[in-house]
Amino acid sequence: MDTIQIKDKTFKPYINREKIRLAIGEIAARINEELAGKNPLFICVLNGAFVFASDLYREIKIESEITFMRMKSYSGTETTGSVKEIQGLNEDIKDRTVVIVEDIVDTGYTIQHIINELSRRGPKEIRVATLLFKPQALKCDISVDYAALEIPNAFIVGYGLDYDEQGRNLKDIYVITE
Ligand code: 5GP
Repeated sequence: MDTIQIKDKTFKPYINREKIRLAIGEIAARINEELAGKNPLFICVLNGAFVFASDLYREIKIESEITFMRMKSYSGTETTGSVKEIQGLNEDIKDRTVVIVEDIVDTGYTIQHIINELSRRGPKEIRVATLLFKPQALKCDISVDYAALEIPNAFIVGYGLDYDEQGRNLKDIYVITE
């Protein structure tokens, strides 16, 4: 694999598709074991998680469902910063086990927002599955139940993750070169 150029940035190969496949298989096996009999609802967070969710969900062998949602950010007019609101989640999650499917947990603020929003709808339990986790960047008190791959702080693209909306279609994961 060679380095690639996306707009003004250069990226080099970082995690190949076979390593990704094996890592997803490992967390899928844990989910199959731990959530059997709970009919979990997987909630894929768009846009970035669609590739991961597609591969993960096809490794899930237990009774379960999948749906999709998006977080919409609003710019605060004062000093409140951005407020995020769930868009597109029509399912009733009251008393259900839900698994949030994210592409990457960096500072954790996004997943914390999602957990807070979903909690208000009365689920039985909320679990978090992410393709990538940057533990050194975490700034929130959240627990990541299923992290396929842990990586150090670095900007990556591919396998659903973008740089300025480009690169989501790359089959492997690439890291930015400094
Ligand atoms: P957090 O709220 O955990 O800091 O960041 C979560 C979001 O930031 C992710 O869903 C993703 O959109 C974006 N993000 C964080 N790190 C990276 C990265 O290394 N590459 C890309 N492409 N997006 C990232």
